Amino acid sequence: MCGIAGIYSHKPVAAELYDCVIHLQHRGQDAAGIMTYDDRMHKEKGMGLARGIFTEAKMELLTGNIGISHNRYPTHGGFGHGEVQPFWTSVPYGIALAHNGNITNYAELAEEITKEETRYLNTTSDTEVLLHLFADLLHQDEPPNTSEDFFNLLCDAVSTISLKVKGAYSVTAMIIGKGLVVFRDPHGIRPLVKGERPNGNGGKDYIFASENTMFYALGYEPKGSVLPGELIYIDEDGKMFTKRLVKKEFNPCIFEYVYFSRPDATLNDVSVYRSRLRMGQNLAEAWKKKYPHITPDIVIPAPSTANTAALSFAHALGVRYSEGLYKNPFIGRTFIMPGQAERKKSVKYKLVPQELEIRDKKVMIMDDSIVRGNTSREIVRMLWDFGAKKVYFAVACPPVKSPCFYGVDMPTRDELIAGNMNVDEIKKFLGVDALLYQEIEDLIEAVTRKGDHHIDTPCMACLNGYYVAKDIDEAKINEIKTMRNHDRNGN
Ligand code: SF4
Repeated sequence: MCGIAGIYSHKPVAAELYDCVIHLQHRGQDAAGIMTYDDRMHKEKGMGLARGIFTEAKMELLTGNIGISHNRYPTHGGFGHGEVQPFWTSVPYGIALAHNGNITNYAELAEEITKEETRYLNTTSDTEVLLHLFADLLHQDEPPNTSEDFFNLLCDAVSTISLKVKGAYSVTAMIIGKGLVVFRDPHGIRPLVKGERPNGNGGKDYIFASENTMFYALGYEPKGSVLPGELIYIDEDGKMFTKRLVKKEFNPCIFEYVYFSRPDATLNDVSVYRSRLRMGQNLAEAWKKKYPHITPDIVIPAPSTANTAALSFAHALGVRYSEGLYKNPFIGRTFIMPGQAERKKSVKYKLVPQELEIRDKKVMIMDDSIVRGNTSREIVRMLWDFGAKKVYFAVACPPVKSPCFYGVDMPTRDELIAGNMNVDEIKKFLGVDALLYQEIEDLIEAVTRKGDHHIDTPCMACLNGYYVAKDIDEAKINEIKTMRNHDRNGN
């Protein structure tokens, strides 16, 4: 997962891109970068959280009215400074690019670029490959003069990308002397929303981002999503060109609604908050059918993504919602003191149970999803330790059985608890009296019930093993697993 943004404005964009990085911080805490341009490119990047990277002095160097930003959560490539986006190349024009997603035919494309195009790759990042491919496709002996001609060239380039590049990609790019470019893969797997505001001179400013979480603060009005397979180009005079180059099924990631996105975001014209409320409602109905004789005394969410679904779940069951597990909001990526490493890995370090809310009660714990299962098991143990009379577990998402190859660091199948155990075995592993997962149909219903959206079927490959870009087979799973282990461990 990553967060990307791109802004065209009538005024300097650096401060607004900084706000984008802050408002998308939950999508990637490993690194961040901002690039802008006027007569040349300016860039600031670093490892860690945005507030530690972008000092006031550094921000002053980021001049220009057009720029892009990136929050990194590595799902491909190494973990060093060289992998921090945006990536850039000086030929042709000077292009910088930020990418959210995962390219599944990275190896073939990397070979083509290094052997046929004789370009050198500095990293193992799929974004670098995408950048070079894009740059090669824009390279012309006689560069176009007008914006219309340049847009036609962009259409050809991005059409070729949609044929050659497999996997998921939402992209913001800036091209020196040309303007801002954004595009999204033909299935629209990763999100990309857009907004605009009047610039006071009869024209408009434009923003594109993974989520609209910063639009209100910056004065932009949401204008829906960049469509799957759509290319948008804003030239230096603020003229917008747009074309949907490929029309395929619209399959946005369902996990954005389950877990990743901020609840206040609206993605693909569906409110994340409302979809989570509906997840809780649907799960409560299923609970009543499956366990008509079991009613908990309280519902406690595993903080904090599950809070919204737990609220509607408790309401639908007619029982009390309780914040019986307190999560310290300042726990995060902090310096680990010697001897602290093991303690910091523990759920106990992050969550504090409130005994008064737990002792002698039939407690329903609700989580957004269960991936490996270790955290869930620790939470259940804590509830028993604090005197729960019964412990039930409800999960807003169906069992996660398959890895994600579209931009989410979902582990290999071996690490996924539901990839290796059935529901009864998971119930025993967790040590609960009853366990209920959301049904796939109920999750889809929760996401698609309302909103003026155009979603055909969300991507649910991690739940049902169907990879929407039709680019994954066993050989590819093994290839990506090897590459991922190499990136993680260097072997
Ligand atoms: Fe999202 Fe799962 Fe599809 Fe990955 S496989 S894009 S996490 S729904």
